[in-house]
Amino acid sequence: MLKNISNLQATLNKLVTDQQGINSEGKVADYIPALADVPPNLVGISVATIDGDVTSAGDFQVPFSIQSISKVFGLVMAMNRIGDDLWQRVNMEPSGQPFNSIIQLEWEKGIPRNPFINAGALLVADVLTSHFSTSNLAFLTFMRSLAGDEDIHIDNSVYQSELVHGNRNAAMAYLMKSFKNIQAEVPDVLSHYFTQCSIAMSCQQLATSLLFLANKGIDPNTKNNICTARDAHRVNAILSTSGMYDQSGEFAFSVGLPAKSGVGGGVVAIVPGYGVICAWSPLLNTFGNSIVGTNLVAGLAEELGLSIYH
Ligand code: GLN
Repeated sequence: MLKNISNLQATLNKLVTDQQGINSEGKVADYIPALADVPPNLVGISVATIDGDVTSAGDFQVPFSIQSISKVFGLVMAMNRIGDDLWQRVNMEPSGQPFNSIIQLEWEKGIPRNPFINAGALLVADVLTSHFSTSNLAFLTFMRSLAGDEDIHIDNSVYQSELVHGNRNAAMAYLMKSFKNIQAEVPDVLSHYFTQCSIAMSCQQLATSLLFLANKGIDPNTKNNICTARDAHRVNAILSTSGMYDQSGEFAFSVGLPAKSGVGGGVVAIVPGYGVICAWSPLLNTFGNSIVGTNLVAGLAEELGLSIYH
């Protein structure tokens, strides 16, 4: 399915240069004030392959707030920890609603539509909080080992900002608690969730960290089994239907890759059997997805013929 990739470096350079020139009308996620401090015109991309190559362009080494991209790693940890019991407590359907919507949650009796909207990620955070003695440390350790980098850290200013401005997430967590679908204490669940969202990583680190999803659950660099092949398939499937929130349909239609965005401006896309793309630029569209990051992934997928639906 892949077209010629011998000139990947030149392709990435050109994509970044073209996108640096566009006048994006997006906004940074100023509902988390610390995210509004990031220079809005940064643009980076990395492509990591399961053969061990990493090719990058632009600001690919600048750490940014991974935000909702952390939901992918949290889901994998929770699936590993409690297995199929997880799917009694969270569904795997697209929500068709903004990532932070609370409306469906009451209609559907505290069962979130999927693990990638905030309600679902809070449910996953509850599983981790309840099943690890120090879940935030376990999460950070997981990220460091996947990226092969002990320097990965939590950005405390982002964490504090999310804590102070996290009323909507708190409301969702308390609503789920009222339906008995949250087991731990809500402040502990929120603390875990904001911690994982506040981790700072670069395009290069994120692309490398997700290679196991392109490789049937096995990290190709360490040969570690990160999850089962069945679970890698399942995570990719939910990424395809829900990873870009209420823009997931359009993204599948036009790009055709399992992908996840975060309001820090990152977009990761899995190319099964090949590798992972991570693009980053802070300005967001109304869905909360990076405009330039999405353009970069779309441009590369088009250029290389990466869609899984070909
Ligand atoms: N921490 C953010 C929030 O809870 C994550 C949202 C996102 O990246 N889409 O609102």
